[in-house]
Amino acid sequence: AIEEDAIVVVFGASGDLAKKSTFPALYALLVEGLLPANTRILGYARSKMSDEKFDEQLFWKIRDDEKEGHIKANDAKKEEFKKMCKYVQGPYDKDEGFQGLEKEMRRIENEEFDGKRANRVFYLALPPSSFAQVSHMIKKNNYWSGKINRLVIEKPFGKDTEDCRAMMDSIAEDWKEDEIYRIDHYLGEEMIRAIYHLRFANRFIEPLLNREHVESISVVMKEKFGAEGRGGYFDEFGMIRDVGQNHLLQAISILTMDPPDSMDNDSMRDNKVDVLKSIPPIENSDLVLGQYAEGDGKKSYVDDETVPDNSKTATFAQWAMKIDNERWKGVPVLVKCGKALDEGIMTMTFNFKAPKHNVFNVSAPSALVVRLNPEPAIYFKTNLLKPLSKGSESISDEMKYTVPGRKVAGDKLAYEVVIGNVFKGDQSGFVREDEVIASWEIFTPLLRYIEGPNGPTPVKYAYGSHGPEEQFEFEKRFNLPVDQ
Ligand code: NAP
Repeated sequence: AIEEDAIVVVFGASGDLAKKSTFPALYALLVEGLLPANTRILGYARSKMSDEKFDEQLFWKIRDDEKEGHIKANDAKKEEFKKMCKYVQGPYDKDEGFQGLEKEMRRIENEEFDGKRANRVFYLALPPSSFAQVSHMIKKNNYWSGKINRLVIEKPFGKDTEDCRAMMDSIAEDWKEDEIYRIDHYLGEEMIRAIYHLRFANRFIEPLLNREHVESISVVMKEKFGAEGRGGYFDEFGMIRDVGQNHLLQAISILTMDPPDSMDNDSMRDNKVDVLKSIPPIENSDLVLGQYAEGDGKKSYVDDETVPDNSKTATFAQWAMKIDNERWKGVPVLVKCGKALDEGIMTMTFNFKAPKHNVFNVSAPSALVVRLNPEPAIYFKTNLLKPLSKGSESISDEMKYTVPGRKVAGDKLAYEVVIGNVFKGDQSGFVREDEVIASWEIFTPLLRYIEGPNGPTPVKYAYGSHGPEEQFEFEKRFNLPVDQ
């Protein structure tokens, strides 16, 4: 672990991720006393930034969170944070820029760390197209082998298996796997981390999670907002690459992996990779794609000025996956995700089979649900005796666990957890190279089909609606309960 003397360099310090997530998470770690003793933060980017502009990048989200009451106002800590941070301007493709950065790091070591060399964390809040080059430049100019060096990158890791492999190989020329921290911020989400406890700390749950008892697994992520203003990024990636291949598949691997021997860096990831390798590529026929049209007074996807008029990019996607292993063979995993829909939710559900001897003739299946949005919760949909019933009529009700006070924390907490783990050296919540490759292998043939000459045209649905009608036919095919 890095316990003291750390210099964190945030590349792309002028960008969206840095201001929305990286700086606020570093600030939150400072407030909680979880940063290594003696930490300095250097923002690096090409843009010219005055002190005022850099101040705005650092505190934009923090001030907003204070105003909204999501975090406590703390002028003393903000002042302390400001003193820790400095901006260095430079290019990504020339040694001089990185040497300028090195000069600043040496100055800090000499003047502020009593001449001791610092541990170095390089956080690439940059478009993935620049990862290979920047990580190479850092290794050449800013790596100090006498201390700990960590490289932090964030999805998307490539656009398909080959592209990802090329990116990984190129980074691996300079960096060892145990120095690379690949963020999927879902792994820092409390309700995703909660799945481990739910499954592996409760004897009455884990024995039921297999093909003997589970009819299907369903993962649903619906967003109310469209791609407004972010169309440039989104149109290039689409729904499957944006959330399916990473966040949602990570969630599925945690829901379905075998129990690890321990929670150390590799036991968990070994078991996640095992289950990912049991998932064959998705069949072209197990797919529904949609794209939002105008509705609710909002523009259609293609009418957004950041989106090409003839775009065929899906803003809604639904697919089925199989897990070909002893535990899950025959249990479909159904995923649905989309933008500009009627509600904002994220749920993961194990739908149980009907009782073997169904004496009460119950029709609603029992289910175990983990919900991230709108309100984080874990609940069992359970068939119970109808209250005050004189006969044996059953009702379906929820036995529920909620997390008080959790809602406002949201992504902020996830990034705080994730970046905190970079300092701790806990890689279990980061995506290992073989895990990313295994994830791409599931989706690459399907993406080729979608983007090829015979690719399907997404079905239109109105902004703010429940999405394409075709989804319901699809769900019937897999016997999915109607409320999912
Ligand atoms: P961004 O705002 O587009 O870019 C960050 C910074 O990188 C820019 O301020 C710019 O700084 C520099 N940059 C932009 N285009 C570049 C290019 N073609 N080559 C080199 N540098 C370029 O990106 P972001 O939204 O902050 O995202 C950064 C990373 O996090 C990406 O990998 C993204 O996919 C991932 N991510 C972002 C979010 C989010 O909420 N924003 C969420 C999940 C993942 P200068 O021009 O000043 O150098």
